Amino acid sequence: MRKTKIICTLGPATEKPEVLRALMRQGADVFRLNMSHAKHDWVRAIVPEIREIAAELGRPVAILLDTQGPAIRTGDLGRDLQLSPGDTLEFTVHGAKSAEAYSVDVNYDGLINDISAGDTVLVDNGVIQLLVLEKQQNRIRCKVLTPGTLGSRRHINLPGVRVNLPPLTQKDLDDVRLGVAAGVDFVALSFARQKSDVEELRRVLRTLDSTARIVAKIEDQSAVREIDDMIHAADVIMIARGDLGIECPMEELPIIQRRIVKQCLHFGKPVIVATHMLESMIENPVPTRAEITDVANAVFEQTDAIMLSGETTVGRYPVKCVEVFDRVARRIERSGGAGFARDYQLHDARQKTVASAVSLANSLLNSKLIVFTRHGTMARYVSNMRPEHAPIFAFTPSEHICRQLALCWGTHPVLLQFTDDPNSTIEAAEKYLREAGLTEANDNLVVLSDLRAGDCQIDSIQVRQARGVDADVSISRGANDESMMD
Ligand code: PEP
Repeated sequence: MRKTKIICTLGPATEKPEVLRALMRQGADVFRLNMSHAKHDWVRAIVPEIREIAAELGRPVAILLDTQGPAIRTGDLGRDLQLSPGDTLEFTVHGAKSAEAYSVDVNYDGLINDISAGDTVLVDNGVIQLLVLEKQQNRIRCKVLTPGTLGSRRHINLPGVRVNLPPLTQKDLDDVRLGVAAGVDFVALSFARQKSDVEELRRVLRTLDSTARIVAKIEDQSAVREIDDMIHAADVIMIARGDLGIECPMEELPIIQRRIVKQCLHFGKPVIVATHMLESMIENPVPTRAEITDVANAVFEQTDAIMLSGETTVGRYPVKCVEVFDRVARRIERSGGAGFARDYQLHDARQKTVASAVSLANSLLNSKLIVFTRHGTMARYVSNMRPEHAPIFAFTPSEHICRQLALCWGTHPVLLQFTDDPNSTIEAAEKYLREAGLTEANDNLVVLSDLRAGDCQIDSIQVRQARGVDADVSISRGANDESMMD
């Protein structure tokens, strides 16, 4: 079983039911809806479609709504501008008109206050580089450094510039409201720069009564500087290498990636490595050797999930991309991992109990970790510790938690109604695993549950031997009247 989870961004190449089905069959765990491009009607239509196909295949598949965030863009142009090194280009705000041959307005009037002479402006994924020469009341005069064609509504990056845009634009708020109504499991905050940005989204989700988990996208230098605070504030971290690779010196990117993955494992937060992992497969049926190595590196670092963007939105081989992720991840996982989770900070008795269970599972042959979890907490603790070989089967009565756990490394969430009798709940879980061929006779099952007996919560670890397929499942192992909760 693969431990690293796969996220696919959906788009025109993957929106048809048969492609969604093929992606799920191939192993997609999470679908991302990118609100920089997605329309509301599309979201309203595709969410139930995903749910229906996931139910048909019996797979817990989560949905992540990714906000556009406070992106700065050029405005509309009557015609594309062919820029050459040495040309002058003016960015205008407040509806100003420019006398220059090349000019374009931007969607953020505050740019004039945030930017200074000497700053670098990167347009269209960094393809066009400009140097700010001077600014006036309503225009910024720049020198073109690299040739390129400037089209309408191109994304602008300002490496190292502190931008004073709000964390959530009106569009983001409308999109989040839509996502919550559709029942998405995760909401990603683009260009999260500081922990208060994440807290702002949490406030919004709380007002909407949503328990969607927050993914903070780390894509600029301020987020990198504040990384510990960002990790504490968010539920999940995404290393959004597309923008991050433009906002930071490119040679820093691998170091930043490794440091963030390490810190996430240190603090026990799920982490996603995103963007350009199989970029060449947008056009080609096989990846480059460098791409395979990049994927392998993220898997070796034991990131929770790896993500496909253009490869599955507009690419020609979306299902093949998932197959490549799956093959590379399985192989690299067999060869071992970086072991960053050894530094996982254990704060309380519950985490220490989970650590004991994981250590037990690591020391037993053919072990499987079985966790009963209502809120997902205990299952996430287990995943954070990156058990050496035991898969994690997380049983939960909540569909929402089941889907959210689909993002966690090594975790196989299973929907199961809990009864008042913990023993019969454990029996039902064992039966499920046996019948699904996920356990074999005499496997060591390390069972983690928290029982409620009266007012008392008792975290417990049990070791049971799995029975074979011909087991008499009606054998009771001593029922009691404690109930299970998390
Ligand atoms: C990225 O920049 O890597 C990213 C994932 O964000 P987006 O696709 O929204 O630009």
